[in-house]
Amino acid sequence: MLRKLNAIVKTAAANQMKRASAAKKSLKKITMCKKCHTFFYRNSWRFESPSYLNDVIDDEIPVRFTQCLACMEQDMALANSY
Ligand SMILES: [Zn+2]
Repeated sequence: MLRKLNAIVKTAAANQMKRASAAKKSLKKITMCKKCHTFFYRNSWRFESPSYLNDVIDDEIPVRFTQCLACMEQDMALANSY
């Protein structure tokens, strides 16, 4: 019984470590709106730059330019008005 419990705990710990390293990797990337320069992180668009940018300022961070929801809606509204 105890041996089985140990195995479960070990598996849970390994899974947690896998998740943590995956999260670290995702921090090295940034998504930015090419129109209004807001940042996308933690599942929402923000005007403040993410604090982790300061930690990795010497590293090269791949920036993915896209459009935020507000700019996309604005574009669609403009397209419809023509
Ligand atoms: Zn935008």
